[in-house]
Amino acid sequence: MATEDVSLDLSTLLSSEERDFLIRNNGDQVKVSNLVGKIVGFYFSGSWCGPCRNFTPLLVEVYEQLSSKGDFEVVRVSDLVGKNILLYFSAQWCPPCRAFLPKLIEAYHTIKGKGNAFEVIFISSDSDQSTFDEFYSEMPWLALPFGDERKQILSRKFKIKGIPAAVAIGPSGRTITKEARMHLTAYGADAFPFTEEHLKQLEEEIEEKAKGWPEKVKHELHTEHELIRAKRKACICKGCRETGYSWSFYCKECDFDLHPKCALKEDEKNSNELTLFEVKNLCLPIHI
Ligand SMILES: [Zn+2]
Ligand SMILES: [Zn+2]
Repeated sequence: MATEDVSLDLSTLLSSEERDFLIRNNGDQVKVSNLVGKIVGFYFSGSWCGPCRNFTPLLVEVYEQLSSKGDFEVVRVSDLVGKNILLYFSAQWCPPCRAFLPKLIEAYHTIKGKGNAFEVIFISSDSDQSTFDEFYSEMPWLALPFGDERKQILSRKFKIKGIPAAVAIGPSGRTITKEARMHLTAYGADAFPFTEEHLKQLEEEIEEKAKGWPEKVKHELHTEHELIRAKRKACICKGCRETGYSWSFYCKECDFDLHPKCALKEDEKNSNELTLFEVKNLCLPIHI
């Protein structure tokens, strides 16, 4: 195949005696050998050159589109060794999957932004390539290619019964939790690295905080009655429309709930830390 010729040329073209790597703008070095088998574009350009400056944003856009589709950059599984991995089982036709995606994207950027070695892999239950492409184009992370046989193997291994599901795997390859979706919904990026110890600590912090919340509040979204601090199972917050938590400000008469974070807006420091979701009880599993 032509790829082989190109890769040979690439190594010759891009390696010198002193250097066999390229750089990224975050300081990372990328070995020329990692580019073997990829489609590579050379962009000769300079910041003093007007037409270059005009062209760069266009190229960035195209690069991001292509690399998010996986056509442009191939990531070797060996590159993932030693990282925290989240397997994200999901599909566009599944409304809870679509609802969970923005939360996961936000957590992903926050976790990576703190310098953690973290990667998400989208494992699709979409029924055709174009829906896969469309859904995956919204995601900033890696994916198994559509229709890849490893999907069945992974679904079986982790006994995935419904989607969305998120399985956290530690740097040593050990499965940390199959309930990462619930923890992410509950704590956002703070749930990382999903270990039992860490989650226990988070829960204790919330219980401690709950002691400081008022027993009753008046809220503009429910002027009829006072809202009582209560531990609830599955419910929908009438403030942000998100589902399920343990602590709530609740009107029993009207079955009206507000998350503590939504009820106590002015006290809010971190939008994730006050919510405790019980996702398990909320949604019937969607079979894949
Ligand atoms: Zn809310
Ligand atoms: Zn009421």
